[in-house]
Amino acid sequence: MRQTDGVQLPDPALVVLVGASGSGKSTWAAAHYRAAEVVSSDELRGIVGGGPHDLDASGDAFAVLETVVAARLGRGLTTVVDTLGLDPAKRRAWRDAARAAGLPAVAVLMDTPDVECRRRNAARDRPVPAPVLAGQLRSVRDVRPLLEAEGWDLVVPVRAEHAPEAPAPAEVRSTPDRTSSLGLRSVLQVSRFPWGEDPLDWLTGIARAADEAGFAGLALMDHLIQVPQVGRAWDPIPEPWVTLGAIAGLGTGLELGTLCTPVTFRPAGITAKAAATLSALTGGRAFVGIGAGWWEREHAAYGLTFPPARDRLDDLERAIVTMKALWASGTKAYDDHGVVLPETTSYPRPAGPIPVVVGGSGERRTLRIAAAHGDACNLRTTDEAELERLIGVLHAHCDDVGRAREEVAVTVLDLPVVGSDRDDVWARVERHRGRTPAATYAARTHAATVAGHRDRWARLAGLGVDTVFIATPDLGSPEDVLALRGLNA
Ligand code: GDP
Ligand code: MG
Repeated sequence: MRQTDGVQLPDPALVVLVGASGSGKSTWAAAHYRAAEVVSSDELRGIVGGGPHDLDASGDAFAVLETVVAARLGRGLTTVVDTLGLDPAKRRAWRDAARAAGLPAVAVLMDTPDVECRRRNAARDRPVPAPVLAGQLRSVRDVRPLLEAEGWDLVVPVRAEHAPEAPAPAEVRSTPDRTSSLGLRSVLQVSRFPWGEDPLDWLTGIARAADEAGFAGLALMDHLIQVPQVGRAWDPIPEPWVTLGAIAGLGTGLELGTLCTPVTFRPAGITAKAAATLSALTGGRAFVGIGAGWWEREHAAYGLTFPPARDRLDDLERAIVTMKALWASGTKAYDDHGVVLPETTSYPRPAGPIPVVVGGSGERRTLRIAAAHGDACNLRTTDEAELERLIGVLHAHCDDVGRAREEVAVTVLDLPVVGSDRDDVWARVERHRGRTPAATYAARTHAATVAGHRDRWARLAGLGVDTVFIATPDLGSPEDVLALRGLNA
């Protein structure tokens, strides 16, 4: 008799292993029997064919296997058959041969969790294709009652010896911590694209400068027509996910995303796919700013519907839920918050969490959606008293929906005029103010030098602001970006 996992195995005997690839059959056999006692279809493929996985050699390998099994059983020798063991006809024939030779027939069923088989299979040099393994795992699930009915002398389940190891997390390229000495991070929002004849060259210069200037990330505005607040309708305003893909190729340490994507532009699943792809391409540094959309004209021009605000806000909530369902691990069905998905199969997987930044300051709905589903809100004011009030509203929603306040980061969109000295500040105010009175424009844009803005940002950090998205009216060249470096010190 042989002792295995507390079970006595008759010896000599026929032992037929049953289990999916990677379930540990060969390992178990090697631990309990002499090499000569084990007849393995993989090994025989390597002898009569090009290697253990040479499927073209299967016919010949099984012919040799049957010959070896018959010869050993005929001599009353212990024989361990190391194949998948999932073909009922083959199993029956081996069992009958054992009977004829007067040997007990034992089936050893590898009781290894599916995830563990998948993990071990994936770690192999030559993994079995995933659909093939899935088919094997299905057969293994159904095989137990068959074995009971087949009349084996003994059916021995073998448990995996070790608890399944957690799958190794996808390697996340460590993000440099770009929190400044002010206690906040800043993300450069690019909203105008004066790129002349060479768009990619211009983008490359801006992104490299943002990286060098210590920005934590780069955000692109998402509009179909340049908005009047920023430029003229015939100024270029590129599709952001395509553009971010190009920037991803530069290998900077920047987080990349939109601020903000209107929920009306793309079905949420498509945005989820774009962001997951960007996450995979950047080693986990993608984010999604998303809002309800506001500009009817661009929708009409591009043939998109522009539902009433209430419906857009409903869509916003469902969009966030949909994206998070698709980014979550696994592929299971989803049915919650009014979103029903029969499966959530979404590959590539994001290479890290994808923060969702909910844009807008609507107090009743937008901030509530941010509180319930967002990772951050983006408030469009930098007026400190107003900001404090809105953060209070956000936190009240958090308390109300049962979400920890610190789970929803506060971000602001800051549109400052930044000059190198007092003269430069006022020259810029004069250049950009249009018909707005100079003092009004200067106050609205907090026009100041870097040192002045740092004082203000320190107060924002004190109010609980985590990230400042900054867009200045002077983002024409890499030098303009580098001039902002002092903000990130
Ligand atoms: P087979 O395809 O069923 O023959 O599986 P193998 O015996 O070749 O095992 C597949 C992989 O799983 C190998 O890398 C083994 O080292 C590993 N393995 C097998 N059994 C165990 C076990 O009990 N615990 C752990 N942790 N690994 C095992
Ligand atoms: Mg094997």
